Amino acid sequence: MSKNAVVVGGGIGGLAAAIGLCRTGWEVTVLERAPVLADVGAGISLHANGIRALDALGVGEEVRAAARPQYTGGTRAPDGGWLARMDGAALERELGTPIVGIPRAVLHRLLRAALPSGCLVTGAEVTSAEQSGRGRVRVSLEDGALEADLVVAADGVGSRLRARLFPGHPGPVYSGSTVLRAITEHPVELATDFELTWGKGAEFGHIAFTDGRAEWHAVLNSPPGVRHGNALDVLRRRFAAWHDPIPALLDATRADSVLHHDIHELVTPLPAFTAGRIALLGDAAHAMTPNLGQGACQALEDAVTLAAALATERTVEAALARYDAERRPRSQAVARAARQAGRMGQQLSHPWAVAVRNTALRLAPSGATIRAILRHADWTPPRLV
Ligand SMILES: Cc1cc2nc3c(=O)[nH]c(=O)nc-3n(C[C@H](O)[C@H](O)[C@H](O)COP(=O)(O)OP(=O)(O)OC[C@H]3O[C@@H](n4cnc5c(N)ncnc54)[C@H](O)[C@@H]3O)c2cc1C
Repeated sequence: MSKNAVVVGGGIGGLAAAIGLCRTGWEVTVLERAPVLADVGAGISLHANGIRALDALGVGEEVRAAARPQYTGGTRAPDGGWLARMDGAALERELGTPIVGIPRAVLHRLLRAALPSGCLVTGAEVTSAEQSGRGRVRVSLEDGALEADLVVAADGVGSRLRARLFPGHPGPVYSGSTVLRAITEHPVELATDFELTWGKGAEFGHIAFTDGRAEWHAVLNSPPGVRHGNALDVLRRRFAAWHDPIPALLDATRADSVLHHDIHELVTPLPAFTAGRIALLGDAAHAMTPNLGQGACQALEDAVTLAAALATERTVEAALARYDAERRPRSQAVARAARQAGRMGQQLSHPWAVAVRNTALRLAPSGATIRAILRHADWTPPRLV
């Protein structure tokens, strides 16, 4: 099997794919359009499936050491009453790890550090990738071109490569929700590691980090494109009556650190994750709403599965067929479940529907939250090397 791969996109999915390919003997170039990889982004939670994928890629230990286990927390109502508790220790007994929380910038840095120097090229915007004959793929950039035996399209939810490879696909659509988030400037006293609070068409959540700071996010039903001059003030007013520590988290945040994004997802599933010798991976393949905290975890699963298939199948074509068969049904099912979780969670706004949901959650048996998490997090990676 020939051995040079180009990965388009240096996000979590692209970097993980590059690590997997390097570990299995490929010569890899990652092309990232951003001129510099600035340390931005809020936080991220990783479930057992994501952590196991990181273990398979050889970076699990480093990520665990930099992440905070999320042992305590759950889902609350705006008055602070608990709707469901999450028992991280029980999850750890089931899966070997609780959910962990880590700043995105730290995770990104650890993934970059696992790559050979010179492998990641920034300021490289890819415009197309096409079969060039003899089993090679020609990757065109704004200022040049290169050839590879395999291309991994990890160029995110707005994937240019996906649009070219699947011109009949409608592409990503707006989910109806917009998210504002940040990391606090300094440590905040928190009674729990992790919380989500659901009001009518709104969610506020936090994930605590090892250094005592926390990421928070506010998700709101909203038309797309709405932006605020001072988002922090808008949030202070919107969540003024919500329970502690929400006001304290907002007070511990610098106004210019708040990120605001509309959430897009692929509602129409792709008919394939591969085209010729090009594999789509991560959000480019299955962008989903963040309601299950599974988008990056699925990208990490993709990365390990792809590298393992290429390491064991006799041809690139056979490996890509296996990658498609193993990854498409699972990731698309998780994406459907995430959309459903959003509809029944953050997006639910009718007062009666909210009351019925909250009552059902309060009455649910204590193990229900763990069982819901296990449904998606209990995944075992293939052996890589
Ligand atoms: C609010 C929110 C919270 C989330 N929370 C979680 C969570 O807790 N846990 C979890 O598992 N997931 C979470 N997710 C999902 C997760 O962030 C994504 O699924 C994941 O980051 C996708 O990674 P990716 O590498 O596929 O795409 P991206 O991170 O979008 O990376 C794509 C990269 O490709 C580059 N690129 C794009 N086009 C080109 C081009 N033409 N040429 C070169 N480079 C290009 C981009 O600059 C970018 O760096 C969350 C998502 C959101 C929106």
